Amino acid sequence: MILANENYSKIQASYLFTEIAHRVKAYQEANPAAKVIRLGIGDVTEPLAPAVIKAMHRAVDDQAKRETFRGYGPEQGYAFLRDAIAENDFRRRGVNVSADEIFVSDGAKCDTANIQELFGKDIVIGVPDPVYPVYVDTNVMAGRTGKAKHGRYGKLVYLDCTAKNGFVASPPKGVKLDLIYLCYPNNPTGAVATKRQLRAWVDYAKANKALILFDAAYEAFIRTPGIPHSIYEIPGARKCAIEFRSFSKTAGFTGTRCGYIVVPKGLCAYTKKGECVELRPMWTRRHTTKFNGCSYITQRGAEAVYSREGAKQTKATIDFYLKNAKLVRDALTRLGYTVTGGTDSPYLWVGVKGDSWKFFDKLLREAQVVTTPGAGFGRDGEGFIRISAFNSRENILEAIERFKKVL
Ligand SMILES: *Cc1c(COP(=O)(O)O)cnc(C)c1O
Repeated sequence: MILANENYSKIQASYLFTEIAHRVKAYQEANPAAKVIRLGIGDVTEPLAPAVIKAMHRAVDDQAKRETFRGYGPEQGYAFLRDAIAENDFRRRGVNVSADEIFVSDGAKCDTANIQELFGKDIVIGVPDPVYPVYVDTNVMAGRTGKAKHGRYGKLVYLDCTAKNGFVASPPKGVKLDLIYLCYPNNPTGAVATKRQLRAWVDYAKANKALILFDAAYEAFIRTPGIPHSIYEIPGARKCAIEFRSFSKTAGFTGTRCGYIVVPKGLCAYTKKGECVELRPMWTRRHTTKFNGCSYITQRGAEAVYSREGAKQTKATIDFYLKNAKLVRDALTRLGYTVTGGTDSPYLWVGVKGDSWKFFDKLLREAQVVTTPGAGFGRDGEGFIRISAFNSRENILEAIERFKKVL
């Protein structure tokens, strides 16, 4: 008899965005004339940069000729891309990461989910609340949590991110976490962490032989000087952190698919006896066994993000989204709402003083604007909605006009 993985039955409700899609579809079917504006799911709307498109076209032509054709590539990613990443994302910022510590993949969602294969089952995991649902749900699937009770899973340690701490949790006192998920600029709150705040986490992780999984998917949205772009800007982080990056939000690759992780040399997990097991060779083994690489064409496109033209063009697109965010932020602030995020992030976290699903339904019905109810990101997300600035200027301005009418 084929046994099912019963951990799946512990997972609460449906995946957040499936539930939203369901409600929007029902509304749209009942109101076919309504022009719905989607500021819910965090997907980009602007096309790829011309420099990226050009590079990808050239790569397609490479595949058309025997002399330039490429079959299986290196599982870790082509050297041309890993070198460009190491140089531009790290060395240029004075951060010590080398090309052989970089593993190219088809995106950060898979990476953040797959990495836990390297860890033992009985570990204490700290997750922020609210949180990107992938970190939690994948640990539920892997059997690292207890059952859910009042919206929280047994065994997980929830790190409250509330208005009181500016949506950045500090390391817990008297609790020994083994694995810690951090994401800055944050999805969903849009909050950023200062050097000092990250240093507290790095010091905590080193003191406890814990590992930080640092998701920097929104790094390119940072505009405030002094805010760290990488966890490796913090002294000691190479000893206790893995970093996740993605071209999805940085360069509009959500449908093109490319990301990478950094696993520094000498970074350890431990046996029960306390002996170091180096994670980089483990991930190399895992990656080469279970993954056959991101496509050559896509990697050529990603490489072009670092070209002079590509960098200029992708920055302009991010500036465009950030302007959208500012417009919505200013409008909601004028309407009396408290708004976090939207300055170094495409997301706005808006206090709604009440039930977030109700507020979501109100905006859908009265303004035909789709947002994301904060409760979908965790218990501490209740009382907030997330608004995404990924949209056309026209739709953003239209959404603002509608907010003014109904809020
Ligand atoms: C969008 C997003 C990612 C990127 O996912 P991809 O699989 O690379 O598209 C990673 N982490 C967070 C928090 C995100 O919001």
